[in-house]
Amino acid sequence: MQYSSERVKQIPPYAFAEIKQEKEKLIAQGIDVIDLGMGDPDLPTHKHIVDKMKETLDDSANFKYPNPLGLLEYRQAVAHFYKKQYGIELDPETEVLTLIGSKEGTAHLVPALVDPGDYMLVPDPAYPVYEKATLLANGKYYKLPLLEKNNYLPQLSDVPKDVLEKTRLMFLNYPNNPTTACVDVKFFQEVCEFAKENNIVVAHDSAYNMVTYDHYKAPSILEANNARDVAVEIGTLSKTFNMTGFRIGYIVGNAKVIKSLAVLKGNVDTGQFMPIQKAATHALLGDYSCIDEYNEIYKERLTTVIEAWKSIGIDVEMPKSTYFVWAKVPEGNTSAEFAKFLLEKAGVVVTPGSIFGEYGESYFRIAVAVNTDRLKEAVERIKKVL
Ligand SMILES: *Cc1c(COP(=O)(O)O)cnc(C)c1O
Repeated sequence: MQYSSERVKQIPPYAFAEIKQEKEKLIAQGIDVIDLGMGDPDLPTHKHIVDKMKETLDDSANFKYPNPLGLLEYRQAVAHFYKKQYGIELDPETEVLTLIGSKEGTAHLVPALVDPGDYMLVPDPAYPVYEKATLLANGKYYKLPLLEKNNYLPQLSDVPKDVLEKTRLMFLNYPNNPTTACVDVKFFQEVCEFAKENNIVVAHDSAYNMVTYDHYKAPSILEANNARDVAVEIGTLSKTFNMTGFRIGYIVGNAKVIKSLAVLKGNVDTGQFMPIQKAATHALLGDYSCIDEYNEIYKERLTTVIEAWKSIGIDVEMPKSTYFVWAKVPEGNTSAEFAKFLLEKAGVVVTPGSIFGEYGESYFRIAVAVNTDRLKEAVERIKKVL
């Protein structure tokens, strides 16, 4: 009997799940653990969004199978967001598709576009799903190292010709998790030109597009000229509206790519629960002051952590976006050893950079997912054990 395919055997369990398990073990022992690991902040989903969801629960028509492409009103709301935020017109019927969170869309996009043996360009360090989805689709990947000395931008001219000939898809993510790097439209323009020259679809993950500070406005890849010839953008309400558990996102851009993903998804899932789509519609159509309100809180937390780190000799810059601090591990430790040390000795969870790929080694990531007092306590505890 075969209980696992070769495809599944080659991938380890989702890395964050393991850290969570370790943390729960300590909590069961009565240890007060401060979790700065996973990017899932403590702040609640905004009340007007939850109220909208409650309202929809009184109508049982909302409990039926949804349209697998997503409610048209939700896709229109996504189009409204693109118009309002970037001045981009999207056709809600052909250029917008609902996702059950961007993780789901990312994982399914790969088999929708890539055949076994085809290559993908995958940044490193990066959100682990790009690489794992490639392996699950029996694809191959070529890593684009994101190095500090290059401001964490990929050096596309370094990709070998023979790899490019077999490459179908590349992933990018700015504002970037985990490095917090940001880009401008000019960068996206260059990427789109590179992609067009080499017949590669670009999938840009815009998870942190609205989590920004000090008036920084993160661009959409669709702002680049002729972007829709080659690009799609995968977005989520998880980070924008603190809706991580709702599982609602979208993919926009190239209509052919979206059609292919829709065919695949139509045979795998049946869309997202309508009350969730309606709550998400309400969020996208509303005013976005609630986003600013939370961004102020993240900014204050980031400032607190960065000042505290400085006092223990770890120097990091204030990011323009995301709720992460990406910092160097003290000399002489691997990132996994350092994370284990902090968890066991200080009861603080941080994410070892190695989870994001080999080029993440020697860094660790902190998410400001707890309030300022807890953050200060975490740094105090770390100070004591270092
Ligand atoms: C959080 C995150 C996601 C996941 O978003 P969901 O819509 O909740 O699946 C995707 N990409 C990046 C880079 C993230 O940090």
